Amino acid sequence: MNKGENKRVPYTTSNINKCMCSECPVQADSQCAMDKLRKSKQEAGKLPAGQAPNPEDVPGIYCSIGKARCQDLNFDRQCICSSCEVWKEYGLKDVDPNNHFCQHGSAA
Ligand code: SF4
Ligand code: SF4
Repeated sequence: MNKGENKRVPYTTSNINKCMCSECPVQADSQCAMDKLRKSKQEAGKLPAGQAPNPEDVPGIYCSIGKARCQDLNFDRQCICSSCEVWKEYGLKDVDPNNHFCQHGSAA
């Protein structure tokens, strides 16, 4: 089955807001991720309530949207997804991959 047809975590503003990726050490030194974070917050402020920004512009919720577009992440650092409400809510502990979705792709 195409992975995209079996997406476990919906791409919603509610889940975007719970995502911890913006505080993750893997992205901490990524200029690309910081730029996207700033721009996506600006964009989100202009959108109608509840409408999510373009996923290509959001540096997070990789468990839903798949691998990071930014190329300057440090995957040797620890993933903090296990501290995230989305991770708990959708049982991501029990899927493969269950961490570093920015590197490995979306949760199956
Ligand atoms: S589980 Fe990880 S990638 Fe998914 S929303 Fe939470 S912090 Fe972001
Ligand atoms: S998916 Fe995990 S490793 Fe990647 S940025 Fe989010 S919290 Fe960090």
